[in-house]
Amino acid sequence: MGTFINGATSYSDIFFDLDGTLWDFETNSRETLKDIFENFGLRQAGIPDFEQFMGIYRTINSRLWEQYRAGSIKKDILKINRFAQTLNYFGVVNDGLARAIAVDYVSISPTKTHLFAHAHSTLRYLKKKYRLHIITNGFNEVQFVKLNKSGLSSYFNHIITSEMAGVSKPDPRIFIYALEVTGACAQHSLMIGDDLNIDIYGAAAAGMGQLYFSPAETSNNGISQFKSLAELKKLL
Ligand SMILES: [Mg+2]
Repeated sequence: MGTFINGATSYSDIFFDLDGTLWDFETNSRETLKDIFENFGLRQAGIPDFEQFMGIYRTINSRLWEQYRAGSIKKDILKINRFAQTLNYFGVVNDGLARAIAVDYVSISPTKTHLFAHAHSTLRYLKKKYRLHIITNGFNEVQFVKLNKSGLSSYFNHIITSEMAGVSKPDPRIFIYALEVTGACAQHSLMIGDDLNIDIYGAAAAGMGQLYFSPAETSNNGISQFKSLAELKKLL
């Protein structure tokens, strides 16, 4: 396991995950699902409760994302089936509805702009000292809209998506691809992300430094972590 060197001056490039690290995925996704629940009249369609709808959707969505990351299903299947299966769970069998919701979800969600506290001030600080980049598993058509709408684009030299790389995190090849594209070297690169399995172990396998963003302070086998973006000004 590579390590994070506290107060390191040896890093030249910092790679950020986007969803759940800078862009507040939980809040933005909740708002989007709420819009969808209302706009499509899902209570009237037979789904009794929004919280239940969201809980089931999230479980199904994570399972399908796992399959997508592993390359066993295509993006279009993921986009539609996460809603088709959620509706089915509540006994609503309506393919047209699932498709319409799927389209709205990817058009509404990236227009949401909740970021984690201190995102802008931290990135402004870091940009003066390091080259900053994004490595994300999200879809191209969604992730670029998110970065633009939330005013993050200008901080980053390179945005690397799993679609560009042809593989998803935690496959070390996406990190190696990112190093090639940015001209960075693994030893002087640091990956910052909120998912141990996807961001942290993936970056470690590619020989990069890692720093785990854990707002809930999950215990983590001794991996360097922080719980607020504001802490990065002290650490880096
Ligand atoms: Mg994330």
